[in-house]
Amino acid sequence: MNLLVSTLGAPPDIIEETVGLFNYDDGVDFYRGNSAVGEMRDDLARLDEVWLVATDQKHIVKPNGKDILSVQESYNYILQKCSGYGAAIRVFVLGGVADIVNESDARAFHDLLLRVVAFARQKRGDGKMYLSLACGRKTMSTDMQDAAYVFGCDNLLHVLGDRKEDATPMLMGGLTPNESVKPQSVNFDEGPFLRCSPSNDYLCDIEQQKRQSQHFFTSYYLKEQEPRSNFHVLYTLPPSKIGQLKKEHIGIDELKEQEELAWLRQLPKSDLHCHLGGVLSPSEAVQVADLHPWKVEELTACHPAYINYLRSDMDENFKAFFKNGWKESIVASAEELGVPHYAVSYPLLLQFKGREEKLKRIWYGSLCNETVFCGVGIKKYEQLGDLQGSNLLDYGYGLEQTLKILLTRCYNENVKYLEIRCSPFNYTNENTSVDDVVLQICHTLEKVYAKIETSLIFIISRHRGDVSIQYVELVKRLKKESLFRKFFRGFDLAGDESIKKPEDVRESFMDIMKECYNITIHAGETEEVENIWQAVYHLNAERVGHGLHLLEKEDLLTKFLERGIGIELCPSSNFQIVGFRDNYFPKETENFSEYPLKMYLDNELKVSVNTDGPGISLTDMTHELHKAARMTKGGLSKWDVLQLICNGFRSAFYPYEQKKQLIRKVENEIGELIKHGRL
Ligand SMILES: [Zn+2]
Repeated sequence: MNLLVSTLGAPPDIIEETVGLFNYDDGVDFYRGNSAVGEMRDDLARLDEVWLVATDQKHIVKPNGKDILSVQESYNYILQKCSGYGAAIRVFVLGGVADIVNESDARAFHDLLLRVVAFARQKRGDGKMYLSLACGRKTMSTDMQDAAYVFGCDNLLHVLGDRKEDATPMLMGGLTPNESVKPQSVNFDEGPFLRCSPSNDYLCDIEQQKRQSQHFFTSYYLKEQEPRSNFHVLYTLPPSKIGQLKKEHIGIDELKEQEELAWLRQLPKSDLHCHLGGVLSPSEAVQVADLHPWKVEELTACHPAYINYLRSDMDENFKAFFKNGWKESIVASAEELGVPHYAVSYPLLLQFKGREEKLKRIWYGSLCNETVFCGVGIKKYEQLGDLQGSNLLDYGYGLEQTLKILLTRCYNENVKYLEIRCSPFNYTNENTSVDDVVLQICHTLEKVYAKIETSLIFIISRHRGDVSIQYVELVKRLKKESLFRKFFRGFDLAGDESIKKPEDVRESFMDIMKECYNITIHAGETEEVENIWQAVYHLNAERVGHGLHLLEKEDLLTKFLERGIGIELCPSSNFQIVGFRDNYFPKETENFSEYPLKMYLDNELKVSVNTDGPGISLTDMTHELHKAARMTKGGLSKWDVLQLICNGFRSAFYPYEQKKQLIRKVENEIGELIKHGRL
């Protein structure tokens, strides 16, 4: 549909002059014989509709005896005059405002005009939109010009001269819309003659957006001194607000903690480093262990000894398992009873239904105390995860429940993008193949909280011999499934770094590299910088998990910058496994090193904050960002926090086009926070 929007004032004849430029034939041609107009028409399309915006003018007889028509009379007059031109006429009247006599009238008219032009832009579809400055008061022309600069148009025109013979319109050309203004969508009732209520809101919104977009140049180009660029939308803030975000530090004062957590929670976030085997807290493990009664009956029927196991003193059993190594005992008992692993672990955990706190106390012991749960080493940390992982995930129901708990938590913490790393070979049982397991994971991701964008990474374990071949085969088999292609992104090398160096697995990683899958490597968490070097040079790591010792090798740090390699820090797990200083416990942690996060930020590295084993660490993304601030001397500025979040999204293993869209969505969401003054 081709549309013309014009303001309407006295005299209404100008409208015929305007319409006559576009629509004409031998019967009606306003500009007959005017050769200049003939040429102009080459670039113009015929109009389907003409929309007029007017005040609620009443009929007036002037002292000199001349009449000013009411808006209704003007409309009737135009209908009659333009009837031969074949364009429908619509009038939008600023209800109750007879004339523009003060600022409030002027703003109300400006607001209505912007809304009508915005509506025209929505309605025209593939058609043209023309705007005319002629007709009406000068303020109305100014408003129309503003609308043209905000929404763009195919041509902005004016009609000149009062006498038919020499009147020649003026075309000022097309304008592109102001892309930094994101107009809200608008709606109007149907009908050719519409009275609209005066308002100021739409104008205020557009004005604020225009003001913000003007800050971009000064904020981004002139005052820009920080190393790595942050979310682009932040540079539309006035320099004073940016200064404030850089000045306000969090993670220092315990009294402000709740307020700071609320600020962090509202921010859109990503989590790039999250192990499925460590997402459950002890109480959530109990929640997952709710085995269906029919399943218990089925198992009892097949394995008579199983009923005796269920009748045994589970409290005592639990302690025994706990003492002799949870995983090993589960495996041994399951074999003895002839049942799957989950049949042993589920009833044990279920003993703690309603007493989840007790389970946590037994399981964590002195580590319930945050200052004690510091620098305990990787073994101790991983043992804490034994309650969950493969012994719960080898049952389809448990796998689905675990994913649901994880996704619900992410949803509540406003995590927009999540990468889950998992070991599907460890979750099989006698009835389910590894292919089934992977597809079940994909189905659950598709079904539950589909708004959280998720990716799947397979973990290749250092202590499990050479399993990379199996994984490559698995991926080759599943590649034909579109659901699998939707979620699968790449591989991670994990497990005790002292067991195998990256160079030891280079050969087996070649197949992965040949297929161009994404690669992230756990390196430099517990071992030295050499492992990070190897991850980069032997395995072409695009991201490194932890990489805590990078500052020790400056050339390698530079290489990280040159190649844009991401660093996934996981503050709570780094604190608990390795041990670092914490602003809340300066005395207790004084013997530990300074957390390298801030130095990484200052060195422009693409460092992000993630959860690792959120259930083991008893954390989530909101708390991880806060912990990152607590582990930084003097805390982190809000600007730094936003930079960390931005780095996370930019480091995502997401297909190029999807990643651009994701970042745009996140920029928009931050734009909304800015708009509502919540940043
Ligand atoms: Zn990890």
